Amino acid sequence: MVERERSPVLIAGAGVGGLTAALSLARAGFEVALIERATRFEEIGAGLQLSPNASRILIELGLGPALARNATAPDRLVVHRLSRERPIGRMPMNARNPFGAPFWVTLRKDLQTALIDAARGEPRIAFRVGRTVETVSQQADGVVVEIATASGARETMAGAALIGADGVWSRARAAVGDAAKPAFSGFEAWRAVIPASDAPETARAAETHVWMSRAAHLVHYPVARGTLINLVLVLRAPPPPAASESGWDASADPAALRDVVAHAVEPARSLIRRASSWRRWPLYDRGGLGALARGRIALIGDAAHPVLPFLAQGAALAVEDAAVLAQEAARAPDDLALAFSRYAARRRERAARVQKASRANARAYHAGGLAALARDLVIARLGEDGMLNRYRWLYGWTQDS
Ligand SMILES: Cc1cc2nc3c(=O)[nH]c(=O)nc-3n(C[C@H](O)[C@H](O)[C@H](O)COP(=O)(O)OP(=O)(O)OC[C@H]3O[C@@H](n4cnc5c(N)ncnc54)[C@H](O)[C@@H]3O)c2cc1C
Repeated sequence: MVERERSPVLIAGAGVGGLTAALSLARAGFEVALIERATRFEEIGAGLQLSPNASRILIELGLGPALARNATAPDRLVVHRLSRERPIGRMPMNARNPFGAPFWVTLRKDLQTALIDAARGEPRIAFRVGRTVETVSQQADGVVVEIATASGARETMAGAALIGADGVWSRARAAVGDAAKPAFSGFEAWRAVIPASDAPETARAAETHVWMSRAAHLVHYPVARGTLINLVLVLRAPPPPAASESGWDASADPAALRDVVAHAVEPARSLIRRASSWRRWPLYDRGGLGALARGRIALIGDAAHPVLPFLAQGAALAVEDAAVLAQEAARAPDDLALAFSRYAARRRERAARVQKASRANARAYHAGGLAALARDLVIARLGEDGMLNRYRWLYGWTQDS
């Protein structure tokens, strides 16, 4: 690693992508300024699945022990119809894991805490919290960002380059020439956690379950060392009254779930009923894949390519992006524009494939009638090995493959 005397790489957004990029770049010798809109790092969302393509990178960054302490390692994924007791199929996860890194499910808070702790231990990373990146402009030898502080003041900050890791409503995206706004996907996610002691016995096992129906699908798994059960219920929904950037925080009325509950068998039914405190989150998507970089500005994670959560890969892709970007930056530390164009070339196909597979899962999970029958037949025919083989391209990815 080379000591680099130059202006910092600026990162807009300290979510999973921004924090992983900051750590990876700092370890490669870059000075980093991590600019985050929030004034403090709060618990946002609930659980998160981390597949081997992401857990491998986080382990290489030294986060393995911190993550393993609180995460659950599910043995398998069990797939059901919401209205039938007998499962349709299973996919081995850690029970027969050929990928050399674990499948984990964890509280988002636990992942974020592990990343922040590691980043705070890196002298090359400076945190600039309570600051919103408003605009970015490129100069011959760097970038300048305009920032609004939480107190209403305005600042400018100069850097060698900017990484836009500012999520689905990215401001940095405009600076790579992409002004298209995300569009409502027709689905909203409801998220809740319940104490494991309130959950039926079968939901407490180290397994991830998916329950599918035309109107809604439910995913659940244990988190926090098995003390809590995380629930994600995705529903077809009308567009929200106004596109909102604060979807994380909208509370939800469980009475609206009456039809879903009426349709569900045990234990899905009890799990949905026992969750009293749901949070609603409208899901946004963007049609195609826009530019991932321009000159000294690169986008990662949801800012680059929002992914519908039907494959549980949005955060995983952000982690992959961060690792590849840091790898390319380390290869061309004196020409970050070149590094970013190489990063974009390496990530396009992968991101587009994951987006496409997530949309395909949306159709499959919410299929009705004959399409649902055909889906069930395919899953049953594939069997456990077939299910796993189908996703080797996804989970077996490494940054050197
Ligand atoms: C219901 C649901 C379930 C999901 N489950 C999974 C899962 O199981 N596994 C998985 O891999 N993914 C999952 N995802 C996707 C995952 O949550 C996202 O893809 C991931 O959080 C994207 O990370 P990010 O760092 O790109 O963006 P974000 O996590 O959105 O972080 C962006 C950060 O930037 C900050 N910010 C925003 N604008 C600015 C600005 N202008 N200036 C400064 N800071 C700014 C924000 O405050 C935030 O901290 C799920 C998503 C949903 C909706």
